Amino acid sequence: MPKPIPSKEEYLTRLIGRTEKDGDCLIWKGHTRPRKKGQLSYGRMSYVSDGRKTEYVHVISFELHNGRRVNPDLEIRHLCNNPKCVNPDHLLEGTSLENHLDSVRAGTYYSYFRDGPMSDF
Ligand SMILES: [Zn+2]
Repeated sequence: MPKPIPSKEEYLTRLIGRTEKDGDCLIWKGHTRPRKKGQLSYGRMSYVSDGRKTEYVHVISFELHNGRRVNPDLEIRHLCNNPKCVNPDHLLEGTSLENHLDSVRAGTYYSYFRDGPMSDF
């Protein structure tokens, strides 16, 4: 028999249980994995929703607190510019462009050509 899907409360308990408060931020202390080499690491956690196995913890936090999925055309922005923060008050849906502009303003933007394997050319 497949394992039962955890409730919203169980997910919240798991999520909050693996964070530490830092000012207003709730910093993820669990598993992280960068999307690409050199990029920022985002926390991930197993999460069953439409058959997904793992999801970014900031996306899970947004979905649990807002009671809905993230718009598939949008990303989750960190208003605090802390990629490991899962405080729902610091998370906002936005376009990919807005998300990139946030990181440019914060000085954390990763450019494949400027910072990646092509940077020596
Ligand atoms: Zn934060």
